[in-house]
Amino acid sequence: MMEKIQAFLREVGRSAGVEDWIIEVLSKPEKVYKATLTIKMDDGTIRTFPAYRVQYNTARGPAKGGIRFHPNVTEEEVTALAFWMTIKNAVVNIPYGGGKGGVAVNPKELSRNELERLSRAYVRAFAEAFGVDKDIPAPDVYTNPQIMAWMLDEFETIVRRKEPGFITGKPISLGGSLVRDIATALGGFYVVEEVLRDVDLEKPTVAIQGFGNAGSNFARLASEAGWKVIAVSDSKGGIYDPDGLDIEEVLRTKKETGSVINYEGARRISNEELLTLDVDLLVPAAIENVITEKNVEEVKAKVILELANGPTTPEADRILQKKGVVVVPDVLANAGGVTVSYFEWVQNRTGEYWKEEEVKRKLSEKMKTAYKDVKEESEDLTKLREGAYRLAVKRVAEALRWRF
Ligand code: GLU
Repeated sequence: MMEKIQAFLREVGRSAGVEDWIIEVLSKPEKVYKATLTIKMDDGTIRTFPAYRVQYNTARGPAKGGIRFHPNVTEEEVTALAFWMTIKNAVVNIPYGGGKGGVAVNPKELSRNELERLSRAYVRAFAEAFGVDKDIPAPDVYTNPQIMAWMLDEFETIVRRKEPGFITGKPISLGGSLVRDIATALGGFYVVEEVLRDVDLEKPTVAIQGFGNAGSNFARLASEAGWKVIAVSDSKGGIYDPDGLDIEEVLRTKKETGSVINYEGARRISNEELLTLDVDLLVPAAIENVITEKNVEEVKAKVILELANGPTTPEADRILQKKGVVVVPDVLANAGGVTVSYFEWVQNRTGEYWKEEEVKRKLSEKMKTAYKDVKEESEDLTKLREGAYRLAVKRVAEALRWRF
């Protein structure tokens, strides 16, 4: 994984015209914290879980990025994700470096009490790494506002003062920000509105893979905008109706039955089929590496909005570019989440809380400015990913030059 990042940096670094020493600095994480969390389970047995926090680069500000609870978590994966947070935070120009944390655990196997003990143990293990001016965690895969609340409570107990800005993605009553819950989808929506204007596509037809926080909220935003959402899916499979799905009904079905596939009146399709439907806008909002060499030739969408992290493999990406598909890269498309995390942190630090409309207006402005900046750095609309990377590396390089 690190070799990939190093190769990537050499290529982008060259096209961004940055010095070799900057590439060298960015090729390795600044700091890696590791621990083994030992937890007493409800039945009295003891289990251990490997845990990590990586501060990849802090040239632009304190480290920022989520904590994931997932069985596949490794030091390498968390390090790579912390690198991508460094890039993402620079793309949207918020005053942070990049970080990420994780615990190798399947949280679905834990009771609520076990999950609480694990969350608190995580904070105890890494307490000296965190702080409102040092490193600010947030939710990521399989972590949520309740987990943020336990972590905040543990941290405040350790430091013996209130410090709500230590963590973002908190419940509103503990200092969370309005709009944070839908921020990833909304940020992607603001960007794609601009993209669609640039490619002269009004009211696109839409297919969305993944119906978690990002996918389901995007589906609602799209249907509220009068766009025809013709297919959605979750891990159990997908549904397709060329006349458009009733998204409120799909949301209800997901909530009541646990999956979108129980929606009535649509054709069942596979996750694989969804990606190759004849739509204007395709939104991968689930897992990584779903658009690959194997299926990319069948992809018919004109625009792809990467709400998931890393849904397109580099090989597939090159082919999409040749086909003239406009891909909004993950580091821009899903940066709305961390952007509202930044707003949350600002509100915690000033003690002044913003209305919903104000958060939305600020998010819209940030995302639209980031898109404009990325566009200016890109040769054309099929090369937004390269542009975003170049822009981010230039921004981090500029901060590094002042420090060294
Ligand atoms: N986990 C989210 C991301 O990957 C949000 C991070 C944050 O809010 O700090 O962008």
